[in-house]
Amino acid sequence: MNIHEYQAKEILNSYGIPIPRGRVALTSDQVERAAKMMGGRCVVKAQIYAGGRGKGGGVRLIHHPEEAQEYGKELFGKNLVTVQTGPQGLKVRRILVEEAVEIAREFYLSITLDRSSSRYILIASADGGVEIEEVARKNPERILTLSIDPFIGLRPYQARKIALELGLSGSICEDCVELILNLYRACLEKDCALIEINPLVVTKAGWLMAMDAKITFDDNAVYRHREYPDMMDYSQLDPLEINAAKYDLAYIKLAGSIGCLVNGAGLAMATLDVLHEYGGEPANFLDVGGGATREKVAEAFRIILQDCDVEGIFVNIFGGIMRCDVIAQGIIEAAGAVGCNLPIVVRMDGSQVEEGKKLLQESGLNVQIGSSLGDGAARIVDMLKREVC
Ligand code: GDP
Ligand code: MN
Repeated sequence: MNIHEYQAKEILNSYGIPIPRGRVALTSDQVERAAKMMGGRCVVKAQIYAGGRGKGGGVRLIHHPEEAQEYGKELFGKNLVTVQTGPQGLKVRRILVEEAVEIAREFYLSITLDRSSSRYILIASADGGVEIEEVARKNPERILTLSIDPFIGLRPYQARKIALELGLSGSICEDCVELILNLYRACLEKDCALIEINPLVVTKAGWLMAMDAKITFDDNAVYRHREYPDMMDYSQLDPLEINAAKYDLAYIKLAGSIGCLVNGAGLAMATLDVLHEYGGEPANFLDVGGGATREKVAEAFRIILQDCDVEGIFVNIFGGIMRCDVIAQGIIEAAGAVGCNLPIVVRMDGSQVEEGKKLLQESGLNVQIGSSLGDGAARIVDMLKREVC
């Protein structure tokens, strides 16, 4: 689960990490008033669930309140496109107005979950700012990493080593040690999958400050934090994802043209791999989980059909707990209701499989039955090819 920059900064601040003075605005008049409060000179920042705003035109240094208002008008309601948003961009509904800070140096600092080692790792660089991806590509030796032992935690001497390697000394180095330790504490207590400050700056006046912040909470821990659901900004999410979550379905958007309806994460991964092998590109996958009902399957099918990129559908279900005839009914019900004539391939196995197949074959849908995962993948790829010709 993601939150906005201003919310992430509030959390950092509650852990003693300095942030610029700022206000969140919902209208361009509020942007103007906030700019006045900051003394005219300020930074106006679009709040979207993506980075790269600096280069994408979503962050601007402003000199007069009227200029802030004009820029606010331009941003509100606009689909801001950055390297992280995809071509359709994300709609700007909130704007953060902050005091402008004179920056002397920019650093990168983050803690994130490394799934291969099952540990948090701290990542730091003296080359922070908008070019950090470029640094990681061209000068990976300029990126420092530290794997944190979950039992020992992050020790002050480790934080000091990082601060020194970033080139800090004296009281700023000690401030940075404290900041790193606080960041780790925040990361643990708030159950973060990622907590990132880019840039962490040393101001010309000689203070450390978080100029930008990104936090991703671990979805599996959201239940431990009662305030998290209210922090979510639904305008930043794919409506189909929101719909899927309502029915407890996992929907993941991908770039291709084949919608995939599967049960279980492992089978989903295998399905995507095998589709790729046969030259197919998944448009998404929708995992209906273990004990899906007919209604759930029908809802999943409806969600897949609403994805405009979908040109064909591949259903791959192992009906261990689910009965295949029930799944078939769900598909027929949903496809029939919207008059779907897209190519569909169903590969299923498990209890009542013959009844399920029979129902599908007699349904009048543009459907083929796959005898195996490979056969199913080959069929849907082939059906799509013929549609194009
Ligand atoms: P991002 O591009 O989405 O990561 O957005 P950031 O919040 O990091 O802003 C982009 C860049 O704008 C930062 O890397 C800074 O260099 C610059 N910036 C942000 N706030 C200020 C400020 O108060 N003063 C100055 N001089 N630059 C700022
Ligand atoms: Mn940034």
